Amino acid sequence: MESLLISACLLGADCKYSGGNNRLPDELLRRLKSKYRLVPVCPETAGGLPIPRQPSERLGEKVVSRLGADVTAQFQKGAETALELSKRFDCKKALLKENSPSCGSGRIYDGSFSRKLTEGDGVAAAMLKAEGLAIYGESVAETIL
Ligand code: SF4
Repeated sequence: MESLLISACLLGADCKYSGGNNRLPDELLRRLKSKYRLVPVCPETAGGLPIPRQPSERLGEKVVSRLGADVTAQFQKGAETALELSKRFDCKKALLKENSPSCGSGRIYDGSFSRKLTEGDGVAAAMLKAEGLAIYGESVAETIL
C-alpha cells in the first residue's frame, strides 16, 4: 500500500495553535485510509512548540509568532522531522493543511497577522517539495483518490 504523509490536524489531532484540529469529513478520511497507509505529522509540535501556542507566520527568511518571538528554529526542526518520516515510510505524496506557515503549499499567510494570503510555501512543505514529494492541500484531496 502506498504511504501518504498527512498533516496530523487533518486526521483530527488537536495540534493546532488554538488546541483544535482541522479534521477532514469522515467519508473522505475513510477513502484515504482505504487507499493509503497514512503517516501523520505535525511539524510545529514536532519542532517543540506547545499546544496551545501563539500563531506564527513566515516573514522573509524567518518565522515569527504573533507576539514577535523568533520560532524559525522550531519550524525548521519540525520540517526536518516531516522529511525524515517521509523518507522512512517512502512517501511520494503529502496531503498538507493549506495556508499554514508549516504545511501550506503555494499560498501562506503574509506575515502581517491580518489573515492575508501571499504566494509561498510553509517551511515543511517547501522542504518536502525540494525532496521531490508532490504536495496536495485538503481542497484537492479528491484528486489523489
Ligand atoms: Fe496542522 Fe501542520 Fe499546523 Fe500541525 S503544523 S497544526 S499539522 S497545519
